[in-house]
Parts: sequence; C-alpha cells; structure tokens
Amino acid sequence: MSAPGAPDTSGHRAARPPRVRFAPSPTGHLHVGGARTALFNYLFARNAGGTFVLRIEDTDRARSSDEMTRSILDAMEWLGLDFDEGPYHQADGLERHRADAHRLLELGAAYRCFCPPPPGRAGRPDPEACGCATLSRADEEARAAAGEPFALRFRVPDGETAWDDAVHGRRAVANEHVQDFVLLRSDGTPVYNLAVVSDDIEMGITLVLRGDDHLSNTPKQILLYRALGAPLPTFAHVPMILGPDGRRLSKRHGGTSVEAYREQGILPEALFNFLALLGWSPGDDREVMEPSELIEAFSLGRILKKSAVFDPEKLTWLNRQHITRMPIDRLVELASGPLQALGVPPSIFEERPERVREVLDVVRERGDTVEAVALQAAPFFLDEVTYEEAAVTKFWKRPAEAAELLRAARDRLAEVASFEPDTLEHAIRQLAATKDVSAGKIIHPLRVAQMGTSVSPGIFVVLSLMGRERVLGRIDRALGYLDAMAAAEGAGADAE
Ligand code: GLU
Repeated sequence: MSAPGAPDTSGHRAARPPRVRFAPSPTGHLHVGGARTALFNYLFARNAGGTFVLRIEDTDRARSSDEMTRSILDAMEWLGLDFDEGPYHQADGLERHRADAHRLLELGAAYRCFCPPPPGRAGRPDPEACGCATLSRADEEARAAAGEPFALRFRVPDGETAWDDAVHGRRAVANEHVQDFVLLRSDGTPVYNLAVVSDDIEMGITLVLRGDDHLSNTPKQILLYRALGAPLPTFAHVPMILGPDGRRLSKRHGGTSVEAYREQGILPEALFNFLALLGWSPGDDREVMEPSELIEAFSLGRILKKSAVFDPEKLTWLNRQHITRMPIDRLVELASGPLQALGVPPSIFEERPERVREVLDVVRERGDTVEAVALQAAPFFLDEVTYEEAAVTKFWKRPAEAAELLRAARDRLAEVASFEPDTLEHAIRQLAATKDVSAGKIIHPLRVAQMGTSVSPGIFVVLSLMGRERVLGRIDRALGYLDAMAAAEGAGADAE
C-alpha cells in the first residue's frame, strides 16, 4: 500500500485483471451523459479484455423505481452495451455496508454522532459544531446503550488526499477541507460514499470511470479505501456534456435521454459512435466508426479534459452515414416496419426481396432517418402515389403542356427495347430534342407522375426500378389528372 496521502502508484494494481462498472441510480431514464459513461466503461473493458459490471444503485428507495431500472436496462441493450456481470442491486449489499461502517467504528476511523439532523438537510449537521468527534469512546458507548439514536460519521484524518486521475492528472485536496462525513444514518441506511466504496471493494473494481460531477466525492472515497485497508482503483472522471450553447444539456437541445433519441429515429450504432466521440477521440481523423473499431481504438489517455459539446447536427449526420454504410439486409429489416406503416404490403418482402434491396439501396442516402428513407422508398411499392401539392403547383402548372409531353414520353417508354437507366435516358433526351424542349420539361412532370414529389433519386434509375408496367400505369393516371385540370381551367376561362 502507498503511504497515506500519496497517490497510489503501486504496481500490484496492474496485475489484477481489469474490472469496471457502470453504476446508475434508477431515478430516471438513461441520460446521454450516463450512457456515455457506460459506453466508455464498456469500451475500456472490451479493449482490455476486462469485465464490465452493471450495478444498479437503488439504495435511495424513495427515488428509485423498477420501471426506471427496466428502462435503463432496455436502453443499454438497445445501444449494445452488454455487461458481463450483474445487474447487481446496491440495496442487496445493505448488511455489508453496515458491517463496513461498524468495522470503521471498531478501528477508530469512525465515531457515533448523536446530533439530530437539522431540518431540511437530513443527516448533515455541521460536524465542527456538534462536538461528537471528541467524545470519549466510553461516553459514546454509554449514550448508545441508553438508546440515544446516532449516525456513524467518518473521522477525516489530517493531511492531504491525492490521486492520479486518468483524465485530469494529479488531484490533491487538503483534508481540512473535507468534513467528517456520515457513513450510516441513524436509521441504519448507508450514504452513497460508503455504499459505493463497499461495493467497489467487494466487486474488485480496478477502474472507477464516471462523470466529473463525482470529483468532490473521490477524496472521501479514497479515505474510505485506505481506512478499510483496500487497494485503490484507478479513478477517471470524464468531463460534462454541454449543449452547443455552452449550457448544461437539457430538453431544449433536442432531448437528454437515450430514449428520446431512439424515438427520433437515431440508430443505436449512430448514437454509440456519437457518444464515443463525445469527449474522446481516436487520435486520427476517423469519425464514422463501428463498435469494433471503437473498441480497438479506445484508450483512457485520449479522453479529453475539457467539456464535450453535444452537437445534434453531428448526430444526425452520423445517423445518415450509418444508414448509408450498413449492410443492406439490416436496412431492409429496419425499414420494413416504417414501409408497412406507409401502406406497403408485407408480402413484398417475401415476394420481391431483391427489388426491396435495390430500391432501398438507391434511396438510402436520401434521408436522415430510416423513416425518411422509407418515405422515399414507399412510392416504388404502392399502387397509387399521392401527388404533393407543391410538386403539382410547380411542375404541372400548365397541365395541357405537361400532358402533351407525358403522352409523348409514354409512347417512347412503351416501346424502348430495355428498361435500363441508360436506354431510358437516351430515349427521353432524344424525345426532348425532337420536341425542341429542354429535357427538364419532360423529366419534372414525369417525376411527379411516378413519385408524387418534386425530388427523388435520378429519374432514370427511378423509372428502371419502377418497371415498365408501373411506369406506364402511373403516366396514365397522371394524364387523367392533368386532363381534368386542363378541362377545369378551360371551363374557368370560358366562364370569364
Ligand atoms: N450512482 C451514481 C450516479 O448515478 C454513480 C456512482 C459512481 O459511479 O461512483 O451518479
């Protein structure tokens, strides 16, 4: 063991196989900050061949709920953060927490404090004012024996508490700034610092990697390790996550929970990638990374000291990158629900799997979410397209002219030898030349007829994927619509 107050640089720690833990309190959904902590622990464990433990810190019964525990487990599973041990429940360790507190009492490292907690700040009387630290052991025991309620309070020794933080470097706190703190309340419940240290010792945790909101707890915890005679883990405190405006991440920034982003159509691989880059970097210019690459590249040394900025636009960009790169079969699987919700018959997936793959492959770059991609893919599989008002106003503005060009296009498309994009392009461009109009004059109205929209992937690829029969059918329907528009316009003009 190192001398009290000196950072623990003992070699024996390295010999222990790495064991890390994620220790959420089940008082809310999994926050992106918590998810990032879990992810860094996961990446560290997988990189080092260590063990990733999940411990649910549910000692605060009033604020914890099973529903939130389930929600956290769900979010971790969805993100792919599989743990090797657990979930352990901190509340199950109550007897050990008490035993550890009493051991500290035996050792003289803690004392009985008889001061009633002041109203509103349960369990935290000012230890300077209370005087219990200086009671003789005999007095303490006599008052306890007489039935006076007491808390157990840690006796902070003189000196300094220091450690080498894997992120922040050497940190040191003069013990005079650390108040004697409660270990066990008078109702026998342990406080956070005791429960955490007792559990981390019991579970053989070698690295405590958590948010830097815990920095002020660390000196107290180190004092507990020392008093309990346990080897110190390495501590790594990861910086806060801020919104792009430099303020604490909140709902205003688009959501704070994993759940919220999942509902917005963010994919687990994109969030995994995004969170990994939130305060860590692989040290080169890679940004789009798969979990296996992140595991391979991860190291504590590359965690950044400054706060990380949560940029929702980058998350959307990464989502798009992952949609573009994922194996096509995964995209088919993901898009199947949204496509069916848009009215695409489920039979398509069995009857024409190759076509589904082709279409999704063409449109996958055109949406930020799988839902948006499905919206682009749906017209290829629906019996009827819906004409978007904006597209109609823009490209069917002169219905008689549009109808004439579409009729001519229909004739060409009915007879082209093949429905390959190149052949189709050649045919339409030739037609435009013959009619002495720009190709756009045909292409735009044709796109509205096929997709109902003013934007789509390249029209010749669209036509080719749609297939001759469907393309002609859609032109016929568009012609009916355009003729009716033209007739209505004519009638309107006559009436004037
Ligand atoms: N349960 C604590 C929290 O949710 C984490 C404790 C720790 O990681 O040491 O903030």
